[in-house]
Amino acid sequence: MPNIIAVSKTFSIQNIKPLIDYGHLHYGENKVQEAIDKWTEIKTQKPDLRLHMIGKLQTNKVKLAVRLFDYIHSVDSIKLVKKISTEQENIGKKLKIFLQVNIGNESQKSGAHISELSDIYLECKNLKLEVLGLMCIPPLGSSVDNYFFDIKKMNDKLKLKYLSLGMSSDYLNALNFKSNFLRIGTKIFGQRSKT
Ligand SMILES: *Cc1c(COP(=O)(O)O)cnc(C)c1O
Repeated sequence: MPNIIAVSKTFSIQNIKPLIDYGHLHYGENKVQEAIDKWTEIKTQKPDLRLHMIGKLQTNKVKLAVRLFDYIHSVDSIKLVKKISTEQENIGKKLKIFLQVNIGNESQKSGAHISELSDIYLECKNLKLEVLGLMCIPPLGSSVDNYFFDIKKMNDKLKLKYLSLGMSSDYLNALNFKSNFLRIGTKIFGQRSKT
């Protein structure tokens, strides 16, 4: 069974509350400060909640991110790996990590270049980070399956067990590739207003 991460970015905790009360445990956010404002209180009340950082992470936000989040899906540089390691050791916490790959080699997208991936993964191993697997957001278009195929191959090659693939538009494709974490926003909460 895949885990469904309800991507709650831009929605207020009042909007999210019905799903929390229903018992859903996994939520995704893409901005550290927004997540702190929304989740700090409720997370102490409900310690089973799991928060996933899915957006671009700046090194100067790592300290705060490590304190709040349980998973980071957007690790894409050695610098970030080192900083996460330091900050989580400082507080005796161990986050679960996905390495984000810029699978379509798009200039505007974050994620590690494919050629950097093995070095980043090696650094994670050296520092004993708990890497679950790879994450990607494929380019818009019709060849999603090709990108999912490629990333699954890379995941297998690194002997990683989990994949973070699939959003509202392509989660059915992701399921065909046995993705373990689907990141679904729009199909759960509705359209986000542009910010
Ligand atoms: C916003 C976001 C999602 C969810 O997108 P939807 O299309 O609304 O399901 C998934 N992953 C990442 C990294 C996101 O930023």
